[in-house]
Amino acid sequence: HAKREGRNNAQFFMQALNDAACERLQLERQLRKGLANEEFVLYYQPQIDAGSGSIVGLEALIRWQSPELGFVPPASFIPFAEESGQIMLIDEWVVHAACRQVAAWLAQGIVPPRVAVNLSGCHFLKKSLVEMVAECLQNFALEGRHLEVELTEGVIMRDVEQATATLTELKAMGVTVSIDDFGTGYSSLSYLRRFPIDTLKIDRSFITGVTKDTDGAAITTAIISMATSMRLEIIAEGVETAEQMNFLLEHGCPVMQGYLFCRPVPPEEITRLLVEGLPMP
Ligand code: C2E
Ligand code: MG
Ligand code: MG
Ligand code: MG
Repeated sequence: HAKREGRNNAQFFMQALNDAACERLQLERQLRKGLANEEFVLYYQPQIDAGSGSIVGLEALIRWQSPELGFVPPASFIPFAEESGQIMLIDEWVVHAACRQVAAWLAQGIVPPRVAVNLSGCHFLKKSLVEMVAECLQNFALEGRHLEVELTEGVIMRDVEQATATLTELKAMGVTVSIDDFGTGYSSLSYLRRFPIDTLKIDRSFITGVTKDTDGAAITTAIISMATSMRLEIIAEGVETAEQMNFLLEHGCPVMQGYLFCRPVPPEEITRLLVEGLPMP
């Protein structure tokens, strides 16, 4: 009896494995098709100086509108693309699409603030990233200062030496660098000093806590004061309430991003906001 059950379990396991493998293969194929058919779009979320109300940056966030799968949020396919190696193609598409949009705004006589793109591939550690960014900028005759790259601590920590070299080259092109989800990785501010970075983005998990728990408030104020003394820019992510905004203003972090001000929206909506301004909450 035990033997039969064992075999059944094994069969069940093999079946599950097959389903998973099949699903992965499907998704890989869908992603490839999605890239070929331009099923991806970039939405943009404004970064606001809450002191003056001006839009100081835009974060490009990818959206996948798949005819077969429907609307797929980035959290559902970016980690998979990282594993399957397709992230390189996605990152390249994102940089290209962001540059194309900046060029389109400039052609309309609108000067956009710098656009931040999220890069998560470990190809960040390879030389090809610098070449890819340089090519995209050149393609649309853009200066590097129009672009910022957002990286997580984990990506940088994978190879500190190569990361330093890559960041230095990006900076030489005028591209700025920010650390995304800061505080959730394993980096210390002391090693960060060694990297040529411009901005720290305080992770939403701390911002959520600033008016609720003492930890969130303590970590946020610590990041702000250390970043300030290191002359780094700071952006607070995921600001949803006026209380959070006031806390950040009082503690010296005026630049913020979050649903309180604006959700990620299509580029046409950003065009309107850049012309008319963003109403303050
Ligand atoms: P992230 O870079 O930390 O982006 C912030 C996420 O928080 C975005 O989710 C944004 O829509 C959301 N968000 C912004 N303000 C608020 C707020 O006030 N409240 C809440 N609850 N959420 C807020 P999204 O667009 O779903 O992206 C999720 C993650 O997927 C991103 O986190 C980033 O890690 C990744 N991602 C997005 N676009 C790209 C991309 O083009 N390339 C790569 N490699 N990764 C991307
Ligand atoms: Mg980001
Ligand atoms: Mg983030
Ligand atoms: Mg985040």
